[in-house]
Amino acid sequence: MRVTQGVVFLVGFLAVARPDLSPAVAGLTINTQPGESPPSAAQTAETQPADVLPADVLPADVLPADVQLSPGDGGTEPAAPNDEWHLSLDAGRGDTLFDLLLDNQVARAEADAAIQALRPVFDPRKLRIGQSIDLTFQRRDGAVHLGHLALSPDPVHHVRLDAQVDTGFRVSQETKSVERHLAAAHAVIASSQYEAGVKAGVPIPILLSVIKVYSHDVDFQRDFQEGDRFEVLYERFVTGDGVAVRTGDLLFARLVLSGRDLPIYRFQTADGRVDYYDREGQSVRRALLRTPLDGARITSGFGQRRHPILGYSKMHQGVDFGAPSGTPIYAAGAGMIEEARRRNGYGNYLRIRHNTEIATAYAHLSRFGSGARRGARVDQGDLIGYVGATGRATGPHLHYEVLRAGRQVNPLSVDTPVGRRLKGRELNEFQQAVASADRAFQAALGNDQVADLPATCTQPGRC
Ligand SMILES: [Zn+2]
Repeated sequence: MRVTQGVVFLVGFLAVARPDLSPAVAGLTINTQPGESPPSAAQTAETQPADVLPADVLPADVLPADVQLSPGDGGTEPAAPNDEWHLSLDAGRGDTLFDLLLDNQVARAEADAAIQALRPVFDPRKLRIGQSIDLTFQRRDGAVHLGHLALSPDPVHHVRLDAQVDTGFRVSQETKSVERHLAAAHAVIASSQYEAGVKAGVPIPILLSVIKVYSHDVDFQRDFQEGDRFEVLYERFVTGDGVAVRTGDLLFARLVLSGRDLPIYRFQTADGRVDYYDREGQSVRRALLRTPLDGARITSGFGQRRHPILGYSKMHQGVDFGAPSGTPIYAAGAGMIEEARRRNGYGNYLRIRHNTEIATAYAHLSRFGSGARRGARVDQGDLIGYVGATGRATGPHLHYEVLRAGRQVNPLSVDTPVGRRLKGRELNEFQQAVASADRAFQAALGNDQVADLPATCTQPGRC
């Protein structure tokens, strides 16, 4: 076990009972090199000033020879203070719990039993670099035994292993409750919307959602001017002790761009579909993506051309985008995958049905995205596959088709409405959701109590 960032506390029984003792023994830090055995007491004594070492925190190893160790009674009697010591450390690259126990002189069979006991609640292979681990060891019968081991695999879970008298180990797991909070931010855009968002403390996944939702209406490279601004309202999940566990959904955003006011609201319709709508209830995803992959250039347009392989003139039924093999391809619109298979000259071929009229097809893929199979639902912008050169292709490119009523049309000139407009009862519900999001935004910004939400986390970066 390598103690990297870290801090080894070689403290006695009292320190285990009193975690607040740690600062008093901070002088006992030792960093060992990879492959070294854990610090011995002799090293501790040499490298640390003696005056910071309280008498009652001497590790067992440095007990004076005349001190009687308690007999190996399996723990039925309280252990003498110096029979037990505590270790807190951070996992380094390549470390395993098993090695950590062996390095601390725990017998192989006992270390194995401890790992096995832990397995139902924590996969030892998931030990992260920097993961902090708390350990207690006991010396009985002249041998070192593991007393307890504790770690938090993530901010929500705490796992604990305790040695039992004669019955191996007992494992327990504590799951902290997580609350949904709302956070709001507003910022004036100086150079880019992204940069302004980062400065305002908006999490990056939320900024990416904003860019994705507005990608049809706003050119994020060019459309911004001095004084433009934006607002966001989003979910944040926070543990009771105030640790932000994850970011939830973008609920509301508003871009104000030199006079254009573009608010959008997240709304789930009765069929379970989630989308973003403008204030009037029109889906903002009103068109197919023009380019279903990033950084590509058109290498062959739609129409009559001489086929590079077959040699004769032939109608090109789609648009070719040249891009390196492995470039991600995104669904041009929301819909259902109705075909994802090898198909002759098309190679790996995928087709999405967006509505009764419109479908899009993607060919020559090197492979399909995980989950991109027949019958799967996709959202606009979902990853569906990767650029390749399968089938009849001279080099890696995406062959992209738009089909209207089963016939290929020019993807670059066709107007393809695929977004929906809310009406009737759904529109009424949406209007209520809009009013509620507007109130929540004001409340979160003003740090006021929001009716159904904790008020402790209303400002980004403060919870
Ligand atoms: Zn093509």
